[in-house]
Amino acid sequence: MQGVRQRKGGLNSMAKPVNKKRTEMPAQDPKVRAHNFNEVATGYTEADARAEADRCLQCKKRNCTEGCPVEVPIPEFIAAVQKGDYPTAFRTIMSKNLLPAICGRVCPQETQCESFCTLGKVKGSEPVAIGRLERYVADWGREHAPPDHTACPMTNGIKVAVIGAGPAGLTCAGELARLGYEVTVFEAFHKLGGVLTYGIPEFRLPKAIVQKEVQNLTCVGVKFALNQVMGKALDVNDLMKKGYKAVFVGVGAGLPVFMKIPGVELNGVLSANEFLTRVNLMKAYKFPEADTMVDIGKHVAVVGGGNVAMDSARTALRLGGDEVMVIYRRSEEEMPARREEYHHAVEEGIKFLFLTNPTKILGNADGHVNGIEVQSMTLGEPDRSGRRRPVVVPGSEKTIPVDLVIMAIGTQANPLFTKVTPGLKLNEWGYIEVNDRMQSSLPYLFAGGDIVTGSATVISAMAAGRKAAASMHEYLQSLKGKL
Ligand code: FAD
Ligand code: SF4
Repeated sequence: MQGVRQRKGGLNSMAKPVNKKRTEMPAQDPKVRAHNFNEVATGYTEADARAEADRCLQCKKRNCTEGCPVEVPIPEFIAAVQKGDYPTAFRTIMSKNLLPAICGRVCPQETQCESFCTLGKVKGSEPVAIGRLERYVADWGREHAPPDHTACPMTNGIKVAVIGAGPAGLTCAGELARLGYEVTVFEAFHKLGGVLTYGIPEFRLPKAIVQKEVQNLTCVGVKFALNQVMGKALDVNDLMKKGYKAVFVGVGAGLPVFMKIPGVELNGVLSANEFLTRVNLMKAYKFPEADTMVDIGKHVAVVGGGNVAMDSARTALRLGGDEVMVIYRRSEEEMPARREEYHHAVEEGIKFLFLTNPTKILGNADGHVNGIEVQSMTLGEPDRSGRRRPVVVPGSEKTIPVDLVIMAIGTQANPLFTKVTPGLKLNEWGYIEVNDRMQSSLPYLFAGGDIVTGSATVISAMAAGRKAAASMHEYLQSLKGKL
């Protein structure tokens, strides 16, 4: 299908035809991928990338870049793809985003850059597939571009600590190292990446890609201290005594939440966090080659309707669940999961029980789950979130046989570090309070990502890390002579 090509921001200023539909992303067949952990979307070929880049209008007003939380110069990198100049495209993206292969795969571009794309505003036209192009260029760069050690400037000798190696901490660390600081990242786990490594499954974000992209940070001089549960291993006073002059806290919001219903204590009830960590970080999907296992049984219920629920359900299916169902108390329309992930889940055979809420988890004499009691809901008036409130349909209880229940109803602030940091102001839910410069009530302590906002997105955590790095630089420069 073809439309009218727009140039330099004027809608009909140039009549060169442009495809209204974006270039499809090649993907594994749903029947095949439901049984493996390989990546679902297999990525553009060069011809696909050139065809998609060619749809870009190269607008004078860079709406797409305004929609990107880390301000990637989108028209510039796409112009380079149009010419087949991938080194320039890669360098252009990397000037603003050190984790592009990750963002190209998991960012909700449909609500960010792509929702601002001028082409998407033309009747009947889809926006340029910016995320898919970013992924293509990032993958090209990973395979062809040598690590850029020249990006590492002379150190200024000022030590800065970053706590947590998720997207917020990693981005902050990379930016500070580029400014010349001696940065050490302290991470509780034995692997870097935060949710990118232990939460998002292999079939959406291969771990080899995460680890390779994180290596870019060692090229800019960042040091890593793994297996360091901060607040237990060291606290903020220890860091000050060790000569760190500022601290960034990016410990995320990984504390699981369970429903307060009878039976949650039974064996076979897991938080999505524990389930996904066992599978992704501890490689349970490779059991017995890996030591960790998850006993899936035959019937799995996942409670929740967000991306974490989709990831849990699709993971359970791949681990051999005969029937995997998502139980969500509102309707399909209110479900917060990305549409793409929901459609992938449906294609793979996940069942959805909408307007359904668990009331009780049932167990056998050994204390293991064997069923879940649910009741039907209907939608009432909108609540504080603006979504219609689910209301119980009296007498609608029924029991469904299940072997495993995965709770994916949200998470809370991770308190391990914050609760042992005197003077650090938290809000009523335990998240760190910061000003518009990401600075906390302790002037030397900055924070960003999920530990400030609650569960959000990879790119918003990265943007917070970047903003905090700039503020920390300003703060440390203002202390010059006193350090
Ligand atoms: P995290 O990624 O949580 O990283 C925090 C790090 O701090 C972790 O490595 C943790 O081990 C470490 N840490 C915690 N406490 C301590 C301590 N005391 N000492 C030392 N280290 C500590 N977002 C998207 O944009 N797209 C998606 O598709 C998407 N899918 C998701 C799927 C799942 C299953 C989950 C759980 C989240 C998903 N998100 C997605 C959300 C996104 O991953 C998060 O918003 C983002 O990772 C937050 O980054 P962060 O750096 O703030 O925290
Ligand atoms: Fe214009 Fe969209 Fe291209 Fe950005 S990606 S320059 S908004 S057509």
